Amino acid sequence: MKPVPISEIFGPVIQGEGAQAGVPTIFIRTGGCDYRCSWCDTLYAVDPVNSSKWARMGAAEIVAAVLGLAGDTRPLITLSGGNPAMWKLGELVDELHGHGFTVTIETQGSVWAEWAPSLDSITISPKPPSSGEVTNWPALDRWIAAKPNHVAVKVVIANLADLDFAGLVRERLAPGARIHLQPCNPYVDESGEADPDKLDLLARYADLCDAVLARGWMNATVIPQLHVLAKGGGRGN
Ligand code: SF4
Repeated sequence: MKPVPISEIFGPVIQGEGAQAGVPTIFIRTGGCDYRCSWCDTLYAVDPVNSSKWARMGAAEIVAAVLGLAGDTRPLITLSGGNPAMWKLGELVDELHGHGFTVTIETQGSVWAEWAPSLDSITISPKPPSSGEVTNWPALDRWIAAKPNHVAVKVVIANLADLDFAGLVRERLAPGARIHLQPCNPYVDESGEADPDKLDLLARYADLCDAVLARGWMNATVIPQLHVLAKGGGRGN
């Protein structure tokens, strides 16, 4: 595998959002993203101005770093970014499997990755209108179909237009699939730290719960970013 840009490898921590909230995991965060969302909370792994801080690592090096963090334990490994789907990570996934890890990915679903079917599970996080980005629906559909029964879809909600967007995404899911919704946290700085004076995630969460119930979306799971509430977000948590 050619070396890929790595912004950070950290953990184990407790996943704070999405279908695997509450699960211990080690994050492998690649550098670079084809999006630039208005409220991105990981700009340090997105903005090319930070690229000189990203390590270039091959599969063996990344696995060695993961083993150093995991020791004898085998937490879930989460490939995140940036957009990890931009990179050829199939060999890395195979090597992690060889060491007994299960591997998942978080991606916006804008770029298809041929190695995606080898993952154990997939979280797709299509970006709503408030992000300023435009969804590539065919690419998103391919990701949704990539791993039947092991795909979770998560949408960040900042306003009612975002909720309408989530409704369009919801219509594309297989019968019985759940859609995970979380209130947007727009109060982050370049390092991903949230401003505690502006942190109104619980009020936003209460509003989102009401809006979801008003629409009768019984296949929704609604939670705020638990790691932000507990630790303020930022790098390494
Ligand atoms: Fe940030 Fe994710 Fe948007 Fe990329 S897709 S800019 S990592 S929020």
